[in-house]
Amino acid sequence: MKLRKFPNQKITLESFLCGTPARDYIYQDTDYDKQIGNAAKMIHNADYVLIGAGAGMSTAAGAQYGGKFFEENFGEFQKKYGKGPYMQDMYYAGFYPFPDEESYWGYWSKQALLGGINLDVTPLHRLLLNALSDKKIFVLSTNADAQFVKAGLPGEKIFCTQGDYFHIQCGRGCHDKIYDAVDLFYQMDQARIDCRIPSFMVPRCPVCGGTMDMNLRKDNYFVQNAGWYESEERFSDYLSEAIDKKLVLLELGVGFNTPTIIRFPFEKLVREHDNISLIRLNLEQAIVPESFGKRAVGINADMAESIKDIVEEVKRK
Ligand SMILES: [Zn+2]
Repeated sequence: MKLRKFPNQKITLESFLCGTPARDYIYQDTDYDKQIGNAAKMIHNADYVLIGAGAGMSTAAGAQYGGKFFEENFGEFQKKYGKGPYMQDMYYAGFYPFPDEESYWGYWSKQALLGGINLDVTPLHRLLLNALSDKKIFVLSTNADAQFVKAGLPGEKIFCTQGDYFHIQCGRGCHDKIYDAVDLFYQMDQARIDCRIPSFMVPRCPVCGGTMDMNLRKDNYFVQNAGWYESEERFSDYLSEAIDKKLVLLELGVGFNTPTIIRFPFEKLVREHDNISLIRLNLEQAIVPESFGKRAVGINADMAESIKDIVEEVKRK
């Protein structure tokens, strides 16, 4: 619906809200067991399951970012830079204005190892993949930690739109290649002294000679390499095939950091296609559009538990 104004035409609240009822978002008051049953039925009846995974999925599976975990692993960084607004967890610390590249990579090599390369919280991912083994699935993920692939999902069935912890790129995105940095991060980890790496380890862009950066979408220099576009194409093929079939969207721990990648497009798909339903699992933000009626289940609970309960229920069917 376009908001363009024609002469003498009023822009109504309905058109301003793109046709969505103003009171649409609700926390469903259906009891938990019934919600689990409904979600399991949706999956049982589906031929296609498109999983949308956000940070909440990794957290539910056991990944840690802040609190005691951060103090134990990044204590020397807190001591050096102050706890301030940044050195609280592995999300905010990445935005600290590090004084030089040696300090920058001193920090990021550690986050890449702890947050992705060495992270193994795959049992929950595995449980879910096993339960969906007879479905045609695809995973759209904003996570950088590669847990679904570590759990055995073939790489061609996942599209990680925001990059990962395993690759680096030109800091100014001067060319569209990304570079495997796993070995480099291990070397940096060994050589780190006082939160810094030695100068000779600082990576340089092989094309422009400038700085390198993580291949994570955190500014507009993010490099989308050939592999990224291949994943995009596979995702597009999958959705084109599934869109008029029995398709369930299984949204796992997607909040409001980047709702434009999974959360809002999922809602749009359900709104526009009667054959598509949505299961939204979230610890605190499982609100769903009421107008979706029985085609949406929003379970506001510990996601690890919800997933286990749904899987049990699917097995029983
Ligand atoms: Zn460059």
